[in-house]
Amino acid sequence: MMPDNDFIAEQFSLMAKLMDIHGENSFKIKSYSNAAYTIDKLSAQLSSLPHKEIFAIKGIGDAIGKKIIDILETGELRQLSELISNTPPGILEMLTIKGIGAKKIATIWKEMEIESIGELLYACNENRLTLYKGFGEKTQNNVRDSIEFYLKSRGSYLYSEAEALLLAIDKQLKNDFSNEMFEPTGAFREQMETIDRLEWVTTGQEAQLVSFFNKHEGVLLPESSSSKLIFKTPEGLPLVFHLVNKENFFRILSETTCPAFHPGVIQVTDIKGIIHTHSDWSDGSHSIEEMARECIKQGFEYLVVSDHSKSAQYAKGLYEERVMAQHQQIAALNAALAPFRIFKSIESDILNDGALDYSDEVLASFDLVIASVHSNLKMSEEKAMVRLLKAIENPFTTILGHMTGRLLLSRSGYPVDHKKIIDACVANKVVIELNAHPRRLDIDWRYIPYAMEKGALLSINPDAHSTKGYLDIKYGVLAAQKGGLTKDNNLSSFSLKELEDYLAQRRNVRNN
Ligand SMILES: [Zn+2]
Ligand SMILES: [Zn+2]
Repeated sequence: MMPDNDFIAEQFSLMAKLMDIHGENSFKIKSYSNAAYTIDKLSAQLSSLPHKEIFAIKGIGDAIGKKIIDILETGELRQLSELISNTPPGILEMLTIKGIGAKKIATIWKEMEIESIGELLYACNENRLTLYKGFGEKTQNNVRDSIEFYLKSRGSYLYSEAEALLLAIDKQLKNDFSNEMFEPTGAFREQMETIDRLEWVTTGQEAQLVSFFNKHEGVLLPESSSSKLIFKTPEGLPLVFHLVNKENFFRILSETTCPAFHPGVIQVTDIKGIIHTHSDWSDGSHSIEEMARECIKQGFEYLVVSDHSKSAQYAKGLYEERVMAQHQQIAALNAALAPFRIFKSIESDILNDGALDYSDEVLASFDLVIASVHSNLKMSEEKAMVRLLKAIENPFTTILGHMTGRLLLSRSGYPVDHKKIIDACVANKVVIELNAHPRRLDIDWRYIPYAMEKGALLSINPDAHSTKGYLDIKYGVLAAQKGGLTKDNNLSSFSLKELEDYLAQRRNVRNN
């Protein structure tokens, strides 16, 4: 079949957008977008016209006319195919997101060095977009909303997102059918880090559930059977109901979910302090005092302020003078808030060669140092290992931050040999972070048993960019439970005194 006008117009329109993203000549870009507009408005199909008449159309010059003929004959615009192959897939995907045009995508790609929608969402949540020209808070919010919608419609949810949906539906069901039993099961009950369906075991009747979901715009799927009903929500999330009677309720519950964790595993209440936070000195939303007062209110014994370091200028990372000024502020706050304590820390960038980005003298001024990779994330395992091992061997590194840089459902993280990293952390007495942000949960819980076997110390840290971020600790604990972590193996479960002793000991080892 010959390409129709819609197809040809779309090719030119995409061509104009991609040329804009690649920063090409604006005159040429305009000729492509004008051509798309003109073709879109034509009443006659280009494929039905003699070539001579195509060239004669107002707004179609010689160059565009030739390209139209090329598309009609080959079915594609050659230059467009070339441009597509020179563009990362994530950038192409961004073109489908409402609210970001080509110019903005160019900034996102070339200046922010973001190449996927997931990374872009994370940057919105870290308030990073507003640091760039043309990106106000309103734009950032629009971009975030569009991305969230887009990702949800793709079918997978972070645990934290699925949880919100599950709790809302669960509450409504228990309210409407108070005589029936409903218990969430499957991946949610197993505390999986990502979830693509919600499941319940229930004594509820088929007719009840069908009428309930008719009312709530859920569609019954044909895969349903007499023992299992499957509905789809308007957002596209499958909801599975295992129909049981009271007698076999608990048997089916245990059959549809993994065995429970052994009773000695870490609990949210075992977290005694907040480690790894960002204040408004870098890219956080709250002052150090606000962060500290919220800790006190919630019963935590200490706060570790670890703003971004100087290499992370996208996040207002701290140059040396600001480090010193921050330390003075912390000292004053500590005097005022005792016995609560704020620890002076930094999330120091691990540079390309594995070095940290301050002199030893400055590094020595912190109570503890979290070392993390934030730039040049695209690397081979070999390169990542050299870089990380060097940072782990640095005597000033206290904690290795988010080990792989992964962002769940959006970025896989650089490849590492987890066991070798764990071994090196144990040998150098470096604590391994379990970053509790629901999109990170990095180190992966699957490596916790190995880490514990080797005697590693982990730390469940919220990486909070606001006081609200403290809530993320829960997600870190849920993941840690899957790996069987105990509070004795978790630094953020140390009391203030225990943490002070631990840090003093680390300092002594370094100085001797
Ligand atoms: Zn970080
Ligand atoms: Zn951080």
